[in-house]
Formats: sequence, C-alpha cells, structure tokens
Amino acid sequence: MSLWIRHGIVISPGDRPQVFSPGRVLVDGERIARVEADIDELPTDDIETIDASGCVVFPGQVLLHTHCYGYPARGMSPLGAPSHSFLDILRRVWWPLDRALTLPAIGLAARLYLWELLRHGITCAFDHHASYGAIQGSLREIAAAFAEVGLRGSTCFEVSCRCGAKAAEAALEENLQFIREVAPRFGVAPFIGLHASFTLSDSILSRVASLSEDLGVGVHAHLCEGPTDRRLSGISPVRRFARFGLLNEKSIFAHGVDLGQAEYALLAESGATLVLNPRSNLKNAVGLPSVRGLAQAGVRLALGNDGFGSSLCAEAQTAAGTLAIGAGDPGFGWNLLESILFKNNPEIVGRFLGKKLGVIEQGAAADIAIFPYHPPTPVEATNILAHYLFGFGTMPAREVIINGKMRMQNGLPVDFRPEECAAQARYIFPGVWQKRSLRGFRVP
Ligand SMILES: [Zn+2]
Repeated sequence: MSLWIRHGIVISPGDRPQVFSPGRVLVDGERIARVEADIDELPTDDIETIDASGCVVFPGQVLLHTHCYGYPARGMSPLGAPSHSFLDILRRVWWPLDRALTLPAIGLAARLYLWELLRHGITCAFDHHASYGAIQGSLREIAAAFAEVGLRGSTCFEVSCRCGAKAAEAALEENLQFIREVAPRFGVAPFIGLHASFTLSDSILSRVASLSEDLGVGVHAHLCEGPTDRRLSGISPVRRFARFGLLNEKSIFAHGVDLGQAEYALLAESGATLVLNPRSNLKNAVGLPSVRGLAQAGVRLALGNDGFGSSLCAEAQTAAGTLAIGAGDPGFGWNLLESILFKNNPEIVGRFLGKKLGVIEQGAAADIAIFPYHPPTPVEATNILAHYLFGFGTMPAREVIINGKMRMQNGLPVDFRPEECAAQARYIFPGVWQKRSLRGFRVP
C-alpha cells in the first residue's frame, strides 16, 4: 500500500527529534518512504491520501511488559478473604484466574486487550502469559490474536512450579513448541517465559538455562516484584538468575523493586532490560524501584504496564511522579522518562524484531498513530514529551497504521469486530470466574 498522510503535525521523537508543522509522510509498503514539510502541492497522482489536519502524526508506541490473560479480571470478585499482601493477591486473584482460563477465553482476552492497546496508539506489545488449566496451544491463540488485531509483539508462557513440577514442564514445552513452530510464522519475538525466582525450582531453571542457550533466546521474567521474591527465594533473585546464565542482553525482566547496588551492577553489566511498571507496583503495595540508582548504574530501562489498563501514556504520567518521589527530587526523571519512552522502548523491541521503530523517518517501519489534537502552545523538538503526556497521548487515536497496513480508521477497526468478541466474552468470562479455586498452589 502507498499512502500519503498530509497536513498534520508530524512528530518524530528518538535520537534526532524532529517536528514538521505541517508535515507529510509517504508510506510505501511496510516502510516510511518520505517525511517532509507540507508546504507545497504534490504532483497529481493516484496515491491514496489521509488528511491529518487538526491531528498529530506520531510513531506507534511500544509496550515492553504486559499480560493479556489478566483481561477477564475486569469486574471479578476476588476469592477468599481480602488480600493484604502481594502473595495473597497472587494466590487469591491471579493464579486462580489463570488456572481457570480456557483456550477460547485466552483468545478473546488477547483480542480485546490488544484492541484496547491499539486504540491508545500502541502498535507493539510484549505479552507474558499464564493459563495453568489450558497450557498447550495457549500461545498459538495469543499469536493469532496479534495477527488479527494487527499488533507486533511477543508472547511467552510463564514457567512456574506453583502448580507442580509436571505443569512447569508442560509450560516449558509450550514455550519450546511456540518458539520452534509458531513464532517464526507469526513474526513474533521468541522468549522463554518465567514467573519469578520464588516459584521456580533449581531443576527447572537448569533446564531453562540449557534450552535458552541451545535456542539462542532470552527469558522474559518477573524479578523482585517487591521483597517477597528475595524472601521466598532465600537468595538474591538477580544472583540466582545470573548463576544460571539467564542474565544477558537477550533477556527481559519486569519490576526490579528491592534491589541493591551490587545487583544494579550485575544487571547493568549483563545488558539485560529491566521494565518498570509503576502503576502495578503502587496498586500491589510492593514498593518502587530506585530508578535513579538503576539509571546511574547503567541498567537498560524500559516501560511496561504489567497489564494495568491499556494506556502507555497513563503509565508514563505515573512514572513521571514515581521517578521524582523516588529520588526525593521534583527535578529528577523528566529527561530519563523521555529516553525510556521514546528511545529505549522502541530500540529494545526493534532489536528483537529487526525493525526500526519509534520514529517517523525514511526507512523506519510504517507504524503510525494519528491523534486529533490542537496544540495550545508550539510543538517543538524540545517539548515533545509534554505534548504527549498532557495532550495527545491521553486521547484515543483516530487512525493506526502497523507495518504499512491500516488497522483503525476514523476510530473504528478496519477488519476486526471488537463488539462481537466482547459479546462472546460476556458469555464466557463469568464461566471462567466460576471455575476458579484457591486450592492446590505450591509455594515455598
Ligand atoms: Zn507482570
């Protein structure tokens, strides 16, 4: 498809931020072919044109850690007594839910959640999945949802011994089958998923380590989501993963609360990515990572949402607050947040997917979101984050193009029917709620 996007404010963040106001963008196939000021007329041709007057033309946003499987929890009552600790939340909310999921519920959850992300201008998401009552084939369901809604991304199954060693083996096998047979066909980035150190035995970690090396893929895991992980692991989870050779530039870890200087150094030296998820950390009352310490040590930082809502902008607003309060310095975090959001996230994901993401530049992937926005102040290369955080990023996109293909137009999906999926979900998800049980989880 060739397409002109014309008359909008074209904003390209990244290493060389640029603003064309008005600007025009030529999409040619899967890539951006031209970006320039829109100050003269074009020769008449038959290329399709979108009028982006009154809009911002911005790169699709990238989300580094999320959970589609949590989507059916919307409006669900927790089981048992109220949860007063992170472990209670896992045992009474998330683990019973994941074990009750069926393959149709997994597919619906992924489709509907990815659609909500897309509406917020997110064009790539790294999913971390669990469904211990329906392991085999679950990742294929999610990959099919990515293909149908149109997002780029990744998924993996979080291996855990919480439902026993046999289930952990089956989860590992699901990862392997997906990496070998499904991921290449769907063009998703391959990872071996791990829950967290405290629900993983040495024997399964040892199997993961050797398979990770054989396949040349990293792990996508939770790391120190509060003090529980260290306490129940009986050792530093960072050191434990390092001992198994899983701390490397191919791996992605989420959270990093409750780390010390020596662990920052290990993470930084390894080149692994640490994904911040501040809203989830706040809601779970697990504490917050020391982002200043992590950044000073040189840890590669990214932003995810841990499945909490569907707006990366809302996560970034919270991050702006938690970075400042964590450092006790209202002046801290703005530039770092800009780097994480507009450079690190797309660069890290782009490396895994072999694409140039996060910029509106010639040769970059044609992943573009168009937001209706009349800026009240000039948009310049130096103030993009402010217009994103408090302006257009808070609004639903009008058009979203991924890999050169129109996925949403005039606020509506092009070839996906969310209302039909939602109607099925309202029928199926309450059955999942009914199936939940508190029994049978094994935690050290
Ligand atoms: Zn998570």
